[in-house]
Amino acid sequence: MAHNSRLNTVYLLLGSNEGNRLDWFDKAMTLLSADGCRLVEQSAVYETAAWGKEDQPDFLNMALCIATTRPPLALLELTQSIEAQLGRQRTVLWGQRTLDIDILLYNNEVVDTPALRVPHPQLQNRRFALVPLADIAATIVHPTLHKSVAALLADCPDTLPVREYKF
Ligand code: ADP
Ligand code: MG
Repeated sequence: MAHNSRLNTVYLLLGSNEGNRLDWFDKAMTLLSADGCRLVEQSAVYETAAWGKEDQPDFLNMALCIATTRPPLALLELTQSIEAQLGRQRTVLWGQRTLDIDILLYNNEVVDTPALRVPHPQLQNRRFALVPLADIAATIVHPTLHKSVAALLADCPDTLPVREYKF
């Protein structure tokens, strides 16, 4: 599909479990805006015990809706460059990180390449992604699972508690 310069609606998930976690989120939003991504909506911030690899500090997560002219792979380049600028060390799989940016949904498109899979393949299995996403996209229908975000959350097998982070 040609993207040209039209605006695409994208949902991102920010995650951090190292350093001043809220500060990484602010900096990430600033860098996204500086690139020309328009911040359309943001979820509350949630705190979750680490998923997958549990011997590490708790995560904060938040979902963003952005409008961007970047095609999917060019957006991944941007989000990875933001992760790198904010000091992420990619050492251990699912390990501690200053900032993780996952592309959850890109319009209602399906991308399946080695570098990028959208919708994010773990979305439906991760309460820490679905809870913030449901704040801002509850009625959006997943393009391959054909269920709304709210329904994915209701059916999610993950039981790790996700609580709103008050600050
Ligand atoms: P995770 O987000 O699952 O904890 P990483 O952030 O370390 O793991 O991501 C590992 C790789 O996942 C990245 O190098 C990236 O190329 C790939 N990837 C595939 N699909 C996506 C997506 N939708 N969003 C972000 N990264 C993705
Ligand atoms: Mg990631």
